[in-house]
Amino acid sequence: MSRASALLSLQQIDDRIATLTSDIATADASIRGDPELDRMRASEAAAQEEHRTRGASARLAELDAASLQTRIRELDRRLYGGTVRNPAELMEMQRELETLRARLSTAEDDALEQMEQVDQSLARLQEVSAGVAARESQRREAMEPLRARLASLTAEREVLNAEREALRAETDPSDLSLYARIAAHRRPAVTGLAGDFCAGCHMPVSNEERRAVRTGTGLTQCANCDRILAP
Ligand SMILES: [Zn+2]
Repeated sequence: MSRASALLSLQQIDDRIATLTSDIATADASIRGDPELDRMRASEAAAQEEHRTRGASARLAELDAASLQTRIRELDRRLYGGTVRNPAELMEMQRELETLRARLSTAEDDALEQMEQVDQSLARLQEVSAGVAARESQRREAMEPLRARLASLTAEREVLNAEREALRAETDPSDLSLYARIAAHRRPAVTGLAGDFCAGCHMPVSNEERRAVRTGTGLTQCANCDRILAP
C-alpha cells in the first residue's frame, strides 16, 4: 500500500468511526431517556393534582349544602313544633327559612356543577394516564432492538478502533501529523484525482505531480488546497 493509500484508508476508518460515535450517542440517549414520556408524565401529574383539587373543592361544596339542610330542618322543626307562638317571631323564622332555602338551592347547584367538573377532571386524568401507559409499553418494546443496535454499533467501533491503531502503528509519524494537520481544516484531507484535476478543489494538477501520485512513492499534495492526493 502506498503512503497516500494508507492515509486514505485511515481517513475512511476515521470517518466511519465518527459516524458510529454519533449513532452510538443517539441510541444511548434514546435508551437513557424519552423527553416525550417525561412531558407526558408531567402532564399526568398535573391532571392528578387538578383532579385532587377539584375533588376537595366539591366536597366542601357538598358539606356547605349539607350544613344548610341541617339548619333548615332545625328551623322547620321549631317553626312547626308549636313551641314558638309569638307571630312576629314566627314571621321572622319564616323569612329566615326562605333565605336559607334560596341559599340551599344555590349551594346544591354549585355542588352539582363541581361534581361535574370532578368527573371531567377524572376523564382527563384517565386519558393522560392511558397515553403514558401506551408510551411506556411502546418504549419497552423498542428497548430490546435499541439495545441490540447499540451493542452492534459499539462492537463495530471496537473493531475499527483496533484497525485504526494497527494502521497508525505501521504509518510514518510525519505522514500521520501531515494528515492530522490538513484534516483539522479540510475534509476530506486525502482525495483522489478527477482526470487532470484535484477531486477536492477541482483545480488542475500538473503532469509531474500526477505522475508522482500514480507511482506513489512519496506524498503529493495539491498545490492549490494542500490536500494529500491519493491514486
Ligand atoms: Zn486541491
